[in-house]
Amino acid sequence: MTDTKPVIKLHNTKTRQKEVFTPIDAENVRMYVCGPTVYDRAHLGNARPVVVFDVLNRLLRHVYGDEYVKYVRNFTDVDDKINARAAESGRSIGEITDETIQWFLDDMGALGALEPDHMPRATQFIPQMVSMIKSLIDKGFAYSKPISYGHNSRAVYFNAEKAPEHAFFRVDKDDGYGQLSGRSLDEMIAGSRAELGEGKENPMDFVLWKPSNIDEPGWESPWGLGRPGWHIECSAMAKALLGDTFDIHGGGLDLQFPHHENEIAQSCCANDTDEMARYWLHNEMLQVEGKKMSKSLGNFFTVHDLLEQGVPGEVIRFVFLSTHYRKPMDWTEKRAKEAEATLRKWRLLTQNIEPAEEIDELMLHRLADDLNTPHAITELHRLAQGVDFEGDDLAVLKASAQLLGLLTDDLGGWVNPVSNVSERIDRLVEGLMSERFQAREHKLFERADAIRDGLKNAGVIVKDEGNSYSYEFSSDFDPAKLEALK
Ligand code: AMP
Ligand code: ZN
Repeated sequence: MTDTKPVIKLHNTKTRQKEVFTPIDAENVRMYVCGPTVYDRAHLGNARPVVVFDVLNRLLRHVYGDEYVKYVRNFTDVDDKINARAAESGRSIGEITDETIQWFLDDMGALGALEPDHMPRATQFIPQMVSMIKSLIDKGFAYSKPISYGHNSRAVYFNAEKAPEHAFFRVDKDDGYGQLSGRSLDEMIAGSRAELGEGKENPMDFVLWKPSNIDEPGWESPWGLGRPGWHIECSAMAKALLGDTFDIHGGGLDLQFPHHENEIAQSCCANDTDEMARYWLHNEMLQVEGKKMSKSLGNFFTVHDLLEQGVPGEVIRFVFLSTHYRKPMDWTEKRAKEAEATLRKWRLLTQNIEPAEEIDELMLHRLADDLNTPHAITELHRLAQGVDFEGDDLAVLKASAQLLGLLTDDLGGWVNPVSNVSERIDRLVEGLMSERFQAREHKLFERADAIRDGLKNAGVIVKDEGNSYSYEFSSDFDPAKLEALK
């Protein structure tokens, strides 16, 4: 078991291929992931990119060293959904975003997600966004258009000295536009029509800046009082914190178009670069019991809901990691139960064991292969199988699971600690055996047989020897099944 550094391979959306990951600078490995819009509790789907990129962050740190990796994930704290939430609740925007950000950090912490090195809020980077938009306009990649005082203009704009303006990105000036998502022109037009904006030269153009009414959050700008469009924040924050070109950009598949396409257009045209990020990673979406999660189907729930119902965060994490990030993932109660049983078993097995210095080589290899967490978990099962209670394998199991953010001390609160594993198992078996004897004495043969079968199913082979008995463990002994017999 040597701890050689693995070759990391990542599937790059940009090239549609799995590529060897080579950082621009191995002493400054940089990753940006699009974070949540903060107006409500994170639903279970929102947690998927958090867990996926947390695993990548852990792997990069393992390979390149903690101090050489920089991970940035933003909070979108200016958005019309936030304004609407403030208006309907009568609370201030700041209160809502502060509260939601704390909820998000608490909930994601419960899933064992490490906090990124930087968690910038969009509202902290308005000047950088304005300067990027100015530079795009100067270079001809963007233009501004005054709002027309047509039938739906609001009286409040008349207070401004000059008509407030929209700024739009001029998509047909950017030759590379559409390369990331590989969509046809028609598909892109259809997608961008959703984004309204009066005065666009071309329906594909997208908003960089838009006017604000006095009841909406707004900042003074060369285009009057206004606020940024959604996409520009990531370009500005990534530039400020990671530079013009960095290594990895991630997010959910739903962000590939138009959000990431637009980020690339803005950044490359403003920074005069060929690429914004070298590797683009997208996680597939989450479903619930085979269906899209939605409020109307009644299968919509937040991470907080699950935690409140007593589903341990570690179990949620395990279920997530059981599916490869590029496959749609299904949350089912059955999978949660299975994950819980496995984790119980592993926690029991590794309870008094110090994690090894090294990670299992095969498991690391699986993980480095485009974050194949289901295969990595298969290797953990191998380590947990057929071992005695002192085995070195268990120390390696613990260390390897911890690289996935499992079996960590922080997440262990849900399992009752026991002082001595083998003692506890003996106690359990003996308790069940004495119950079996009593059942027999009372001629409750069904119960007696059920206990014997249950023990057998858990991998405990009982030998009756007259009035006494002995038992041994078979190679598929499963302490969790034994626990369940109590
Ligand atoms: P939003 O707050 O809507 O911008 O979403 C935050 C993150 O959650 C983005 O990276 C989305 O891609 C991701 N996301 C939203 N819904 C799902 C889902 N059902 N499955 C996986 N990821 C999702
Ligand atoms: Zn983004």
